[in-house]
Amino acid sequence: MAASDFVRHRLPCLIAVWFLSVQIASAQVRFSNYQEQTVYGLCQDFQTLYTQIREQRIAPDSARARFSAIMQALKNRYPTPVPVQADSLMSAASDSLAKPAASFVFPLRGYSAPAIGGTRGEGYRARGFDLFDFTVQGSHPAQDIFVRDRDQDNIDDRTGQPVDVLAMSSGLVIGIETAWQPGSEYRGGNWIWIYDPVQHGLFYYAHNHVVDVLPGQWVHAGQKIAEVGRTGFNAFKTRSPTHLHLMYLRILSNGLPEPRNPYDWLVAAQVVP
Ligand SMILES: [Zn+2]
Repeated sequence: MAASDFVRHRLPCLIAVWFLSVQIASAQVRFSNYQEQTVYGLCQDFQTLYTQIREQRIAPDSARARFSAIMQALKNRYPTPVPVQADSLMSAASDSLAKPAASFVFPLRGYSAPAIGGTRGEGYRARGFDLFDFTVQGSHPAQDIFVRDRDQDNIDDRTGQPVDVLAMSSGLVIGIETAWQPGSEYRGGNWIWIYDPVQHGLFYYAHNHVVDVLPGQWVHAGQKIAEVGRTGFNAFKTRSPTHLHLMYLRILSNGLPEPRNPYDWLVAAQVVP
């Protein structure tokens, strides 16, 4: 190709590409710190942030801003191939989740919906919940799923084995706690946070005895992530039957979380014997 042809045909095209990339880059400046992070770095940031929230070492407004930036970065990092219409997942009348297109795995091996506490999932109470302010208490935006453990030794009375906690859906482990000790006032005990890029939401599994995953690790639906336990300030008390505390937070377009009742997902979930 002659030099003049290059200038006439190729150069405008190259300039257009360059111009477009500058536009894209400037649109991302807002989250540049997080966009340049590795996935593992994002997980570390989440882990640090959640620990600061739990220990009340960060103001709620600052925590919200950082949480939102991390969630936006995760969403940009893992764009969903088929966009999930958030509205189609929601019941119009309540904050529960309508029948989902995706199938979930029941999060306790050998258990199914009758193990969920209360009648028809009434243990779920989202009112007053604020992920960023641990001074606010009284809500329970979660389902508790109980195992057969009358002597409270973390062993299933029927099988003589620990009960496996399974990932409800595929996702990225973004935070774990493994150092809970009796006497600690942390209510979640040994917890796991998993980001589900298809639903663009977070699953939280609490009170585990053993945690089998690490931050930055991908898990598939049905994979063992932990063993049920009694870790956590209240869960450790004799009055509390051994259970898994399961919470799902949908991430809104502003990057902030909103609890949703996972009851319908649990009822429809695939049971693993
Ligand atoms: Zn609970």
